[in-house]
Amino acid sequence: MTESMLPTYNDVVAAAERIAGHAHHTPVLTSRIANEQLGAELYFKAENLQRMGAFKFRGGFNALARFDAAQRKAGVVAFSSGNHAQAIALSARLLGIPATIVMPLDAPAAKVAATRGYGATVVTYDRYTEDREQIGRDLAAKHGLTLIPPYDHADVIAGQGTAAKELFEEVGELDYLFAPLGGGGLLSGTALVTRALSPRCKLFGVEPEAGNDGQQSFRSGAIVHIDTPKTIADGAQTQHLGKLTFPIIQRHVDDILTASDAQLIDEMRFVASRMKMIVEPTGCLGLAAARAMQDELRGKKVGIILSGGNVDLPRFAELLS
Ligand SMILES: *Cc1c(COP(=O)(O)O)cnc(C)c1O
Repeated sequence: MTESMLPTYNDVVAAAERIAGHAHHTPVLTSRIANEQLGAELYFKAENLQRMGAFKFRGGFNALARFDAAQRKAGVVAFSSGNHAQAIALSARLLGIPATIVMPLDAPAAKVAATRGYGATVVTYDRYTEDREQIGRDLAAKHGLTLIPPYDHADVIAGQGTAAKELFEEVGELDYLFAPLGGGGLLSGTALVTRALSPRCKLFGVEPEAGNDGQQSFRSGAIVHIDTPKTIADGAQTQHLGKLTFPIIQRHVDDILTASDAQLIDEMRFVASRMKMIVEPTGCLGLAAARAMQDELRGKKVGIILSGGNVDLPRFAELLS
């Protein structure tokens, strides 16, 4: 990876201009009870209230807004069963770009319906026998589509960084910041912003305990690949960090922490009952790690990115019961 291929803070600034008026400027929330429990001053960036329900709209829209005329005409292809699919489908509709989304046959019906609802063509595959990346690449080659991956893409990373940019611009510098970690698009974009706007802030990525490839990679200095982890944090069921996200994380992040599914359920309950919001399991990773670090955070100013809120209500009820 050569230095010049990595996105910088200036790319995040350009992304912020590009998505302005299209993405929501989400609120920063506080909770007196959370402050009391942790003995800290907490600021929650509520990306669960972002368009389509997660920060991924930022990166998706930024990437598609950069297409040239030929790319716009031919269309975009993405593979995802989750929030990236909806982010690309909605962004494509807003920009008038045809979208094809490759989803597993057993993807939740609600997610397939939402993606089709945004006007995208859904192509299904068997996740046990077929390789979705190959299907995506074949479609791209055959129809001249541009493939936008969920995290390892400079425009996606720059777009995801705009959430933290808004947070620092609203509350000023922080002592600590916690962001969920899957493939690292959100964390690497957040890292570029943190080092520019709040350089002394300690920045932590948080991933599910069952899938700590990011932590292993960070500590060993090379990208570690794992099998798809079994966790309720479906937005962070990634198998490895990216070729772009990893070097940025390695350079600018203080550490990678983990949270168990039980901790995530406790935080979903806390956020629902005390803050009156539905946050999906993956979105609770940052808060779970902050609570576990309690003593260190006493008296500090702490940011937490609540990354998304897409969870079916029956599933939400099942997890909390
Ligand atoms: C995708 C996603 C993540 C992880 O983001 P990466 O950029 O893959 O690290 C975290 N939370 C939610 C809600 C997501 O959809």
